Amino acid sequence: MPSIDQERRLLPTYEYKQDLIDAIREHSFLVVIGETGSGKTTQIPQYILEEMPEMKKIGVTQPRRIAAITVSKRVSEEHGTPLGKDIGYMIRFDDHTSSSTRLKYMTDGILLREAVQDPTLSQYSVVIVDEAHERTLETDVLFGLLKKTHRLRPELKILVMSATLDVEKFSDFFDECPIFEIPGRTFPVQIIHHQSMKINALKSNFVSTAVETAFYIHTKEKAGDVLVFLTGQADIDRACQEFKDKCSELDYTRDVKYYDVDDEEQVKDVSVYPLYASLETMEQRAVFELSRRGSRKVVFSTNVAQTSVTIPGIKYVVDSGFVKEKSYDPNTGMDALLVTSISKAAATQRAGRAGRTAPGKAYRLYSSESFEHLPDDTIPEIQRSSLLSTVLALKRMNIVDVLNFEFIDKPDETLVMKALSQLFLLGAIDHHGVITELGKQMSQFPLSPYLSRVIISSATEYECSEEVLTIASVLAGDNDLFRAPSPRQGEDLIAEAEKCKLKLAHHSGDHMTILNVWNEWRRNDESRRWCRDNWVNQKALANAKSVRSQLIDIANQLKLPLVRTRRIEVERTSGKKEGRSKEVVREVDAVPVLKSFLTGYYTNIANKASGRSVFSHYAPDQHLAEKSSHTSSALVALYLHPLCALSDMFDRNKTRYSQIEWVMYMHVTYTNRAVMKGVSKILWDWVRSGKGHERIRQLATAHLNGVDKKKLNKKRKQLLDDSSAQASSVESSDT
Ligand code: ADP
Ligand code: MG
Repeated sequence: MPSIDQERRLLPTYEYKQDLIDAIREHSFLVVIGETGSGKTTQIPQYILEEMPEMKKIGVTQPRRIAAITVSKRVSEEHGTPLGKDIGYMIRFDDHTSSSTRLKYMTDGILLREAVQDPTLSQYSVVIVDEAHERTLETDVLFGLLKKTHRLRPELKILVMSATLDVEKFSDFFDECPIFEIPGRTFPVQIIHHQSMKINALKSNFVSTAVETAFYIHTKEKAGDVLVFLTGQADIDRACQEFKDKCSELDYTRDVKYYDVDDEEQVKDVSVYPLYASLETMEQRAVFELSRRGSRKVVFSTNVAQTSVTIPGIKYVVDSGFVKEKSYDPNTGMDALLVTSISKAAATQRAGRAGRTAPGKAYRLYSSESFEHLPDDTIPEIQRSSLLSTVLALKRMNIVDVLNFEFIDKPDETLVMKALSQLFLLGAIDHHGVITELGKQMSQFPLSPYLSRVIISSATEYECSEEVLTIASVLAGDNDLFRAPSPRQGEDLIAEAEKCKLKLAHHSGDHMTILNVWNEWRRNDESRRWCRDNWVNQKALANAKSVRSQLIDIANQLKLPLVRTRRIEVERTSGKKEGRSKEVVREVDAVPVLKSFLTGYYTNIANKASGRSVFSHYAPDQHLAEKSSHTSSALVALYLHPLCALSDMFDRNKTRYSQIEWVMYMHVTYTNRAVMKGVSKILWDWVRSGKGHERIRQLATAHLNGVDKKKLNKKRKQLLDDSSAQASSVESSDT
């Protein structure tokens, strides 16, 4: 085994160390391109750290939180210092840096927030935007901001690192800066297409086809590890299970083509790993180690293995042709994660993973004709997402005229206008498109503007911020609060889990249910056992606890009062049919809590259609325009997610809960239909009497992009004054 130092010297970047340093010294902007695994992320920042003492602090951005964590751990190890000292990472709600940190890995979102607070990014000498080819929304906005920062502070070094060839665009954007190419050492990869399969037809069964193909490779191909690209946790867990099941029935002497008892090189065993962006899967060291002799490693992964992390030993790639991507849904006005087909560039990257250390093979589950019809490149996220937080961040930076911001690829103008109107509806910007005090407060929270709005109104209007902060902390995480046993675990367990859920459920829906679960968890000393026994996701709660305390810090900074809402007395019937008894209990009043949520989500409402659990999305602007009755604007059919508190109620207590007329939901996900999550019962009256409807009416006459010329010019002048003041203060502090 080579030592960690030897490993570093073997990487392709190593022989270009001095050239890289020279180039960084010489240029303000530099684009670096090199194959995945060549050492860009782990090595180049270290070269600067070790060889360029004049550089004070180096910031490196990653699109994925998980990459920031694993890379900084690896680099600390290589550097021989504990994580958080010389080298650290910072992601939303998790800071592992200290005053002595000189190399900081972080998400692009973190640097974006820092640029909002300090447009000169004065703490850094070098900023590296890594994985630039991923073209996340945050990365794209950073590009525009960094150009501005460069004008304010020309001595700041800006590096853009990318895995793919098409980087001229980056260079053009940054004043035609030089491109430093690290030649790859790649081996040929043979591409095999499933010629009879059209990609559209594949969509419904790519998981099982991928499993079959991986199994085919395992039994018919020579030694070498397999990397299978799927889309998300659910299909990856399923594929792992199906693959293991198939292998458990395998007779190696009979079924495996290259099986030979005496040959050490032959495959006699298999280990299966899931890999998705959660720490548990990333911290399984074995995924990142070479397989034992005679054993084959099969990894089912999301896109994270496409360019963000490198798994050694991969000789075979199975490309499902699909990816889960954030997409804007114009019907509901929200972002949703959708499974979509990949681009040619992505397919090429995926195949390339098979040829890193030896010749390899890539099995594409779709035909070569389908491949030809794929788009050349993935559409940048900025052109396919709701731009709410981005536009708010730009407005916060006094970039009033968002449409003319220096974007590398302009977002769709209608999406910008949509974001502007949503921000106006939330009260974050005024009629002239200028950020309001409320908007400034909202932008302080690392949450969606909707959720930030809710927290603020719970503190300033409805006196229930303690409760709302709890609920928002759970909603801010991406974990479901309840766990559901899989069908294979049997009817009994499913029934048991349902019973637990019903016990904790609140009759108004998910928001209050979350509060119930939280309170019960606290009452049970936050015990893991209680979570296990009640089918509650302990991780979601533990995570929410840390998020909550950070949100409270921000609320305190903003001087938002923390108040507990009043308790009300309600009558409850208990016991079985015969001998029912009535008792009076005191519980949290749901009304102010739900009204707080409505201040953010009053456009996310639906009313019950004819079917038992079908709802129709309500489009308020359309509704007002048509002046039709509020029950008629059926646009999209929405369904309740099976884990929703109300969804159980539909089945169990039909009589009492079938009275639901209106619901508010937090977001929509798509499987084969549009499914609402985070759903609670509301009254139409609350919506009608809220401030929101007035704003919907005013929307038509507002100039949200700051087209009010007079005001804009005044603002521009003020901005120029601000930035020259900033520039001169930087100069004086540097000399
Ligand atoms: P690039 O950014 O060019 O894709 P990296 O700097 O991420 O390359 O990785 C360079 C090499 O470092 C990888 O090929 C791998 O061998 C090694 N490496 C990176 N991360 C780890 C890790 N967490 N554990 C072990 N080896 C790692
Ligand atoms: Mg990298």
